[in-house]
Amino acid sequence: MTREKATLQNPAFPCPQEILNRQFLLPMRFYSFDSSIRSGQILLDFYLREDIEELFKLILKEKFPVQSAIPIAHPTFHWNDELSMEANNTSAFNYRHISGTSKLSNHALGRAIDINPLQNPFIKDETIQPKDAIYDTDRPGTISKDSFIVEFLKDKGWVWGGDWNDRKDYQHFEKP
Ligand SMILES: [Zn+2]
Repeated sequence: MTREKATLQNPAFPCPQEILNRQFLLPMRFYSFDSSIRSGQILLDFYLREDIEELFKLILKEKFPVQSAIPIAHPTFHWNDELSMEANNTSAFNYRHISGTSKLSNHALGRAIDINPLQNPFIKDETIQPKDAIYDTDRPGTISKDSFIVEFLKDKGWVWGGDWNDRKDYQHFEKP
């Protein structure tokens, strides 16, 4: 996507222009689950681009599989986080609330990233998102507490949703 298209306003929930202006479109390459190399893009706060650029160099080197990385404004998703999760899409910026609340998510600032939602679901009580997801740390593309991804990002000051006690958000990392 061009930066212009990746930073299109969501008509249903417009984002302050100064937040959109901070978003950086980072290109990357990664191994997919079929072992082919694919390219993708992550839209995130420009201040965090180096952390995520380095992370994806490691992800490529370790051959950690990633399904896709398409900015949420793409017509496939139309800013819908559920559609993005169901497609197992990795993404960062999305001007939206925390699911089930009226509080802005760190994704709304481009300061959070979700990686392989299908292998790394959000779990709270009986709720699992995306639905039908299974968290099994033996499967490729799954992030566990001893994963190089957790180690690398925590070292850079990021928080992992897999460490939370009231809920688990294994796909989610944020640096508020
Ligand atoms: Zn998230």
